[in-house]
Amino acid sequence: MGSFWRLFHYLLSYRLLILLSVLANVLTAAFTVVSIPAIIPFLEVLFEQKPRLDEVPQPGFSADQLLAYLQYHLWQMVDEQGKEIALFYVCMFIVVLFLLKNVFRYLAAYFMAPVRHGVIRDLRQRIFRRTMLLPISYFTEQRKGDLIARASSDVVEVEHSIVNMLQAIFREPIILFGCLGYMIFVSPQLLLIVLGLLAFTVVIIGGIGKQLRRTSRLAQERLADIVSTLEEGIGGIRIIKAFTSESYQQGKFDRDNNRYNALIISLARRRDLASPLSEFLGVSVVVALLWFGSRLVFTEDLMPSTFFSFLFAFFFMLDPAKKFSSAWYNVQKGVAALDRIEQVLDVPAEEEPNTAAAGPVEFRKSVSFQDVSFKYPGSEEWVLRHIDLNIPKGRTIALVGSSGAGKSTLADLLPRFYNATVGVIRIDDKDIKSMPLKGLRELMGVVSQEAILFNDTIYNNIVFGAANVTPQQVERAARVANAHEFIMATENGYETVIGDRGAKLSGGQRQRLTIARAVLNNPPLLILDEATSALDSESEKLVQDALIKVMRGRTAIVIAHRLSTIQHADEIIVLEQGRIVERGTHEDLLANEDGAYRKLVDLQAF
Ligand code: ADP
Repeated sequence: MGSFWRLFHYLLSYRLLILLSVLANVLTAAFTVVSIPAIIPFLEVLFEQKPRLDEVPQPGFSADQLLAYLQYHLWQMVDEQGKEIALFYVCMFIVVLFLLKNVFRYLAAYFMAPVRHGVIRDLRQRIFRRTMLLPISYFTEQRKGDLIARASSDVVEVEHSIVNMLQAIFREPIILFGCLGYMIFVSPQLLLIVLGLLAFTVVIIGGIGKQLRRTSRLAQERLADIVSTLEEGIGGIRIIKAFTSESYQQGKFDRDNNRYNALIISLARRRDLASPLSEFLGVSVVVALLWFGSRLVFTEDLMPSTFFSFLFAFFFMLDPAKKFSSAWYNVQKGVAALDRIEQVLDVPAEEEPNTAAAGPVEFRKSVSFQDVSFKYPGSEEWVLRHIDLNIPKGRTIALVGSSGAGKSTLADLLPRFYNATVGVIRIDDKDIKSMPLKGLRELMGVVSQEAILFNDTIYNNIVFGAANVTPQQVERAARVANAHEFIMATENGYETVIGDRGAKLSGGQRQRLTIARAVLNNPPLLILDEATSALDSESEKLVQDALIKVMRGRTAIVIAHRLSTIQHADEIIVLEQGRIVERGTHEDLLANEDGAYRKLVDLQAF
């Protein structure tokens, strides 16, 4: 039940609002209880179903005494002002009671609204913040859809659960105890009978709810599968259509959808059973109550009017009691959802802010790999083996090799998207593991193979959150990247919004924007994953030209697919299955007729 108490943790910052809401609930309950005896005996007197009381009854604290006293005064009013006026007063009294009750009921909800929605906002915010802090490896292990499901539907579950919990703790019991108190006051004997019967009911209904928590957790997981498939389907729609694999995808989706459907139906059935069952049991309790109560009235142990008011109190109690038990079910569901959310929140960040190494990060001399080997977390296979590399400042090295040789992996180790399994990577003489991630990454400009752009203006896509950037700097970066001309030719220049993932731009234009982004802050170290996708020769030339311009005078690691890029490299590293098999300049390597590089060139593999 640990998670249940953790729900409270999220409420702490809303203490004051909760307190106000509880106060309003107490008042709601008070007026509910007062309205119970307000109706029955008064109407009874007005319809003259009771013999008149002629002598003044003694006021006292027993139910009968109190009612008799009130009845006497009401009859006096009837005598003095007439039935109609008296009835009018009675009606007004009832209206005012219910008005007050509902004003407080509304106030309770009014104060609760910022709590329930605030908790959800906080949770979403925490999930997104954690998502940004998670290591890259998390996103390959876990599916994106799953993460999205947790941030959306699980959060909503928690909201329901919190609302239910708040009501279950701070509202229903107050009304419940108010009614119970009244019933004790009227007839402890009858109350005992009621409680006995209710306990029996609760045991039966409680039995149904037991398995619900586990089933509902499973249902959330199945829903995550659906979201995941949906996401893949939308994201990959071009490929799906191109390979006419719509029916395969549809089949996959239908399978997930049907599995979820089956589960949710059984869940719903179990939940739906609760209401008919509880109504039937409730009615049985009422019938039993009528029978016992009537007997007490026959033996004159109870006045009929008090018996009526007892029944009233019982009815007023049923609803909160029912809500209280269904709240329990909902809280269980919410706790399951919270568990799933907290699984994300508990994943360690790639660098916890308080453990970050301090000190300035500098790059003056060189970047070096010393006997670096690497395998992906959870994988057995060595992807890089015994890599030794030294890149003096200002030089460009090119990584070449067939696909799967380990080029991208090698480049990912520098910004520490992954950490070397064995060996050390140093910038100057410092191990990059001892550097703060932010400082380390600020040394680098990265151009990834896939041009990753966001649905925003061109200007914002280049700046991309960098601090203290002037429009002049942005324009300079765009010029270096051969992007300025085409940007000026778009409708709103730098303020043009480029569509989802830059859909409104051509492939070459997108690449040039990412190059501009990478060089904006003039980073000393560039990591360029050259795009393999074919561009028309005009834009290829512009992109190539831009790359050569940005590499000039900078230290660069290029994953090269084109001869023109490689020829400018100071050293070419040929990778094969994670090993360096050849290194040298383009001319040197080409001279070796049996060399791996020569073979690659002959095959035109890049
Ligand atoms: P290249 O960039 O040369 O094409 P990569 O560095 O992308 O090669 O991949 C090298 C090897 O590492 C491949 O065998 C690939 O299957 C494996 N690999 C890549 N990414 C992961 C990952 N996230 N988890 C496990 N293995 C991976």
